[in-house]
Amino acid sequence: MTYDDDNIFARILRGEIPNDTVAQNDHALAFRDIRPQAPVHILVIPKGRYVSYDDFAANASDAEILGFNRLVAEVVRAEGIGLAEGGAGFRAITNAGAHGVQEVPHFHLHLLGGQPMGRMVS
Ligand code: IMP
Repeated sequence: MTYDDDNIFARILRGEIPNDTVAQNDHALAFRDIRPQAPVHILVIPKGRYVSYDDFAANASDAEILGFNRLVAEVVRAEGIGLAEGGAGFRAITNAGAHGVQEVPHFHLHLLGGQPMGRMVS
């Protein structure tokens, strides 16, 4: 699995193109999706070079994995969609590869909420 340093999220991380940042820490960045599919549609990405979720899960350091997940929790809390704060909930999905219809080859988690998201699997 080779990482393409010219993918759009790599360019966002290098500051070459703008983004609507929501929050970040040493290991991850959260920003609003440019084509939102729900009132809340935020992408959380690691700052390291990981193509997909399985790449990240297998190869990221403990600190990167913790930093990524803590940023997810921070964003969910800040957007008021987390169950822990009495929010109505959200959907977290990640697409990987051709069958997952992944558009950008840098691992990202979609956080979708602010409305009922509908049933994905029946
Ligand atoms: P996926 O790779 O299919 O999971 O989705 C990539 C997501 O990145 C899509 O929802 C796009 O709308 C989003 N996207 C692509 N370019 C940008 C950008 O420059 N800023 C924010 N979101 C983007």
